[in-house]
Amino acid sequence: MQANTSTAGSLFVVAAPSGAGKSTLVNALLAQEPAIKLSISYTTRQPRPGEQDGREYHFTTPEDFLARKAQGEFLESAEVHGNYYGTSRIIIEAQMRSGTDVLLEIDWQGAQQVRKQFPGAVGIFILPPSIPALEERLKKRGQDEPHVITKRILAAGGEMAHSPEFEYVIINQDFATALSELNAIVKATRCRFAQQATRHYELFAQLGIHANPN
Ligand code: GDP
Ligand code: ADP
Ligand code: 5GP
Repeated sequence: MQANTSTAGSLFVVAAPSGAGKSTLVNALLAQEPAIKLSISYTTRQPRPGEQDGREYHFTTPEDFLARKAQGEFLESAEVHGNYYGTSRIIIEAQMRSGTDVLLEIDWQGAQQVRKQFPGAVGIFILPPSIPALEERLKKRGQDEPHVITKRILAAGGEMAHSPEFEYVIINQDFATALSELNAIVKATRCRFAQQATRHYELFAQLGIHANPN
């Protein structure tokens, strides 16, 4: 991504069909890596039991969402399962400028829009071990109405068809294995030359290494 050449921060984009375990994995990653900032999206869907405005999402109305979109407030936005979702531009751009690692939990449509603006963004797609497992996880989570679960399972195939657009794929069968793979991707990204050269600018200068020899 262009921003990576001037800051030490990375942009991680995590997508998955509903129920694959994306939020559970991301929350576990953030418990280990608190320096990564999770973008809180705007959405027009109803809060699930236990969800709090400003924590999981900024919950809003379609009118307010469309007004914000018209004002250019979103870095990306998409309609997913009949609701609007969008990522706030201002917060992400400020964090990227300050060198903070930022993680977006968004759908494949949003990931495509982000990739165009930040070609160096690190795309990670989470797959379930099977469709029956996905269905069972959605049912066990117990937070969506049966017709919403059906809608999400029917959408899963079309969403997973976009997984080849992502740089990394994690199969979330054994949770601990999947989490360590996610962590490994974060750590490897931080060792990219551009990130290291920015983070350790003075050391690189002392060692006579020039990031752009031409
Ligand atoms: P989940 O699939 O169980 O996590 O259910 P959610 O209702 O939280 O999310 C529904 C879909 O919207 C998922 O594919 C999310 O990744 C996606 N999503 C969430 N926030 C955003 C966002 O800001 N932008 C975009 N494009 N998609 C989002
Ligand atoms: P998503 O954010 O992708 O919709 P969630 O993180 O909400 O998915 O996970 C869906 C459900 O599956 C949750 O109840 C979660 O506890 C469970 N889950 C996540 N990963 C695993 C796993 N590896 N094995 C079994 N259940 C899992
Ligand atoms: P849920 O309603 O279950 O929280 O999320 C449903 C889907 O919407 C998930 O695939 C989630 O990744 C996606 N999603 C959540 N926030 C955003 C967002 O800001 N932008 C986009 N494009 N998708 C989002």
